[in-house]
Amino acid sequence: MLSLVVPCFNEEDNVEKFYSQTVMAFENNIDEYEFVFVDDGSSDKTLERLHSLFDKDGQRVQVLSFSRNFGKEAAIYAGLKNARGDFACIIDADLQQRPEVVVEMMNVIKEDNTVDCVTAYQAERKENKLMSAFKSSFYKMINRMSEVDFVNGASDFRLMNRKMIDAVISMGEYHRFSKGIFGFVGFNTKFIPYKVQERENGTSKWNFFKLLKYAVEGIISFSSFPLKLSAYVGFFSAFVSVIYLVLVIIKRLAYGVDVPGYASIVVLVLFLGGLQLMSLGILGEYMSKVYDQVKNRPIYILKEHLKDEENVQDD
Ligand code: UDP
Ligand code: MG
Repeated sequence: MLSLVVPCFNEEDNVEKFYSQTVMAFENNIDEYEFVFVDDGSSDKTLERLHSLFDKDGQRVQVLSFSRNFGKEAAIYAGLKNARGDFACIIDADLQQRPEVVVEMMNVIKEDNTVDCVTAYQAERKENKLMSAFKSSFYKMINRMSEVDFVNGASDFRLMNRKMIDAVISMGEYHRFSKGIFGFVGFNTKFIPYKVQERENGTSKWNFFKLLKYAVEGIISFSSFPLKLSAYVGFFSAFVSVIYLVLVIIKRLAYGVDVPGYASIVVLVLFLGGLQLMSLGILGEYMSKVYDQVKNRPIYILKEHLKDEENVQDD
C-alpha cells in the first residue's frame, strides 16, 4: 500500500481538486493507497473540506489536524508517522507536483527493488535568475560545509519504502530540515526529473526572507562549520596582529617615537569588536537550537485525527 502524505496550510480551494485528480491519475495504475492529509493549523476552510473528504471516502482518507501552524516540516513528520503504507510519498496539496509523477515513481521502485527512495527534481526552475542563482550557491555552500549530500532542485517530493520511512521518523530533531534528514539517513535514492506546475489556487507561503531563514536553519542543523569559522578567523587575525607588532617595534627602534595612529586603532577596535560579536552570534544560533532541543517539546500537537478505525492501531 502507498500512503500519500499531504501537508495542507490554507489550501481550501485545492484539497478537493487534489483528491479527485489523484484518484483519477491512480486509477488502473495504483490499486491500494491512502491519503494522509495534515492540516497545519489552517485559518480558512481547509479542515472543513478535509472533513467532507473523510465522510466521502473514510476508507482511504486520514485527516490529522494540528492545534496551530507548526510548519510544513512538522506536517511531513506527522504524516509519515501516521502513514500505514509500505511506501509513502510526500506531495504538496497545491497540485504543483502532479500525481502522475507519483505513478512514475511507483513504477521505478517496483521495477528495481534495490531502490529505497525515488525523488523528483525540478528539471528547470521556473523563477527569476537571481533567485535561482541564490539557491544554487546555497547548495554549493552547504555541500562544502556538510557531510550530508544536498541535491539542487530536489525538494521533499519523494517516495520511499518502509525502511526509509522508519529511519526518517526515528530522527527526533525539533528543527527538522527534511532535505538534510533524507540525505543523512542515506539509502539508495534514484532521481527522476519533473516539471513544476503553476499553483492552482492560493499563494505560495515562501518569500525571500523566509527562504533565507530556512537556508540558515539548514546550515546550522547539518554543519558545524560556522562554529569553526570563528576559530579560524580568530587564529588568522592573531597571526596578522603579531606581524603588525613586529613592524611597529622595528619602526619604533629605527625612527624613534611615533605618536600618530589614531585611525588605525579605531579601525582595529571596530573590526575586532565586529568579529567578536559575529562569533558570539553564531554561537548563539547553535545554542538556541540546543536549547530548543533539550526542552524536548513535541514537534506538533494534534487537535484531531480522523481515520478508519478498522484497519488501524493507534499511533
Ligand atoms: N505548507 C504547510 N505548512 C506551512 C506552509 C506550507 O503545510 O506552514 C504546505 C502547503 O499547504 C503546501 C506545501 O506545504 O501543500 C508547499 O507550500 P507552498 O506551495 O507554499 O510552497 P512552494 O510550492 O511555493 O514551495
Ligand atoms: Mg506550492
